[in-house]
Amino acid sequence: MITSNFFVNFNLILDKNKIKDILVKNGKHRRDAFDYIDNLIKKYSDNKKYNATLDRETFAITLWIIKYINEKPLINRFITDQRDVFGNRIAEMLLENYDNVIEYFSTFGIGDASIETVGNKYLFKIPFNIFIRYNKKLSGNKYRLVYQMLDNGYVYIDLRQAAHILREYFAVKMHDIYDKMDYSDSKDIFEGFYDKLDELKKEFIEINRKKTMNLGEIDSSIFPPCIKEYINEINDGGNPSHMARLTLATFLHHIGMDNEHIVKIFSRTADFDESSASYQIGHLTGSISGTEYSPPKCATLKSNHLCYMGDDALCPHIKHPLQYYEIKAKDKINSRKK
Ligand code: SF4
Repeated sequence: MITSNFFVNFNLILDKNKIKDILVKNGKHRRDAFDYIDNLIKKYSDNKKYNATLDRETFAITLWIIKYINEKPLINRFITDQRDVFGNRIAEMLLENYDNVIEYFSTFGIGDASIETVGNKYLFKIPFNIFIRYNKKLSGNKYRLVYQMLDNGYVYIDLRQAAHILREYFAVKMHDIYDKMDYSDSKDIFEGFYDKLDELKKEFIEINRKKTMNLGEIDSSIFPPCIKEYINEINDGGNPSHMARLTLATFLHHIGMDNEHIVKIFSRTADFDESSASYQIGHLTGSISGTEYSPPKCATLKSNHLCYMGDDALCPHIKHPLQYYEIKAKDKINSRKK
């Protein structure tokens, strides 16, 4: 039964009296949580993944420590790290037994999933509103509703898609839980541990300060809203989707930034891997592949939930993010001449 041994207990996290009790009575969970955070921060400094599996009590204490430290890039890094642990576990379970995963869908109120044989394939059947709630960060036609087989409000997806939808569910749920946790409760829970926690916070802030994004000569004030949003997400230590990264990398290349600088910008993402980022950026910008890719058009970004035009006055009149930048750059030059 998946819920009896799985590593996250959402109810426990929100029960601050139980957390206080575990913290005082069980030194092992407390030490494991402090060690985990210490390692997570050190790996962050080296841009390395950590991906350690935590038991339920240690996971809950760790999340409260992060609430105490109260730095957005740290919570983003933690959720990304644990999202990957969760994703790997789900993938393993799908190889072992589908019923476990179906039970996971229902136990956590994600939706009433089932398995059906369609042709010679086993497919998950999940409510379409679940699919569209958790597909937003997943790029590619495999995750767009218009390309799915739909029947009576249900979507049929393969096992890999199901694992990805669940992984995204986990990340969204963790952000929701974290937002429900009260900062003042973290002060109460960790009374007696402030020195150690303040030291960790100081170390994290110092590391994060050194990673501050530098756009060099480039004028970011005239970037379109979508590009600003992807940069903000990276600055907060988040993980933009594959298409957002592709758009940002090709956009920065086309406005004149060199590859080394683009890699540096991506070094703040929670799952950064320098050799893979350098290769991918070399591929997109043509230095490895010989093909220089362009950013996607606005229509493509809109259909992938990656347009953030809001009430921007220029966006409704353009078709491409580079067009936005060119118009704004010309306006700026003209206004200087006046
Ligand atoms: S309209 Fe185009 S340029 Fe503007 S935010 Fe959307 S995708 Fe970006």
